[in-house]
Amino acid sequence: MSVLVYTESENGKFKKTAFEVASYAYEVAKQMGTTVTAVAINSDNPESLGTYGVAKVLHISDDSLSPFNAKAYAHAIEQAAQQEGAHIVVVGSSADSKFLAPIVAAKLSAGYAPNVVAAPENTNPLTVKRMAFSNKGFAHTQLNTDHKVIGVSKNAFGTVENKVDTAVEAFTPSLNDADFTTKSVEVDKVVGKATIADADIVVSGGRGLKGPENWGMLEELADVLGAATACSKPVSDMGWRSHSEHVGQTGKPVATNLYIAIGISGAIQHLAGVSASKTKVVINTDPEAPFFKAADYGIVGDAFEVVPQLTEKLKEF
Ligand code: FAD
Repeated sequence: MSVLVYTESENGKFKKTAFEVASYAYEVAKQMGTTVTAVAINSDNPESLGTYGVAKVLHISDDSLSPFNAKAYAHAIEQAAQQEGAHIVVVGSSADSKFLAPIVAAKLSAGYAPNVVAAPENTNPLTVKRMAFSNKGFAHTQLNTDHKVIGVSKNAFGTVENKVDTAVEAFTPSLNDADFTTKSVEVDKVVGKATIADADIVVSGGRGLKGPENWGMLEELADVLGAATACSKPVSDMGWRSHSEHVGQTGKPVATNLYIAIGISGAIQHLAGVSASKTKVVINTDPEAPFFKAADYGIVGDAFEVVPQLTEKLKEF
């Protein structure tokens, strides 16, 4: 009765989150005295999961599963869980994983705990600590169902090496037309840079940048840092930036190592989506801007002066 983990990849390459969730699943399996089986879909090099404690990989190679399709993926994961007799399924917290996790849970009649930030506090009953109330508090959640789905928050548990031998098995789930009734209508545009979900650093701009024509300095800073760019809701609502960059309560969640907020006031709905980031740096002309209360480092200053200087300095490293 292994612990099942869904390990995400993009264009065949495992995402960093795949290794984080595998590490988490290993910890759960260790506490329960069992092993970890991963489901890897169209992923290259599945045996690399052995570094993070995965003893067995069910490897699905199927062109119809590219690009991501939540219903089909969920059906495949459910079948893998049934085959392995796995009662615990671990997934990540990317948009894709958050899309498929409730479907997997419904198919397995499982309780679902999203936004989990630490190793289980207890395995009988399974009790996990998770972010709750728009990331303003923690909940200690018991999962009392027979099957359980755990969604692990990005950057919360980290990537831990636990090298084991890995067996890779081909797995062919039985999928039908009903699994493909949804399709992707928007795909993040990535031109040689990180996506918001995977980036270690996110540089984000707000209404303080005055207009779309001023985003060049923010992009330059992001380039120097190897960061993804993001924005506040009004910025995407006004069409200054694409909706795929909107972060916050109603946008994408950000749980990055470094979040740099430029010309963003720090409204509660913005903070709700970004406060899980480890280090927050705020650049704002208004010393009373609410974001400074949530910041680790703050610069009271005009973005149009501070950002170019910061970029020039960083280029020296
Ligand atoms: P503003 O609040 O206008 O702030 C601009 C900031 O820029 C100010 O602090 C100002 O001092 C500073 N500034 C001005 N000029 C400069 C300069 N030259 N240099 C440096 N700083 C400067 N918002 C989100 O972002 N994400 C969400 O998911 C989200 N969801 C929402 C959901 C609901 C139901 C509601 C009601 C609102 C939501 N909002 C969300 C909107 C949120 O309430 C705020 O209105 C929004 O976050 C403000 O965006 P902003 O900080 O870019 O703009």
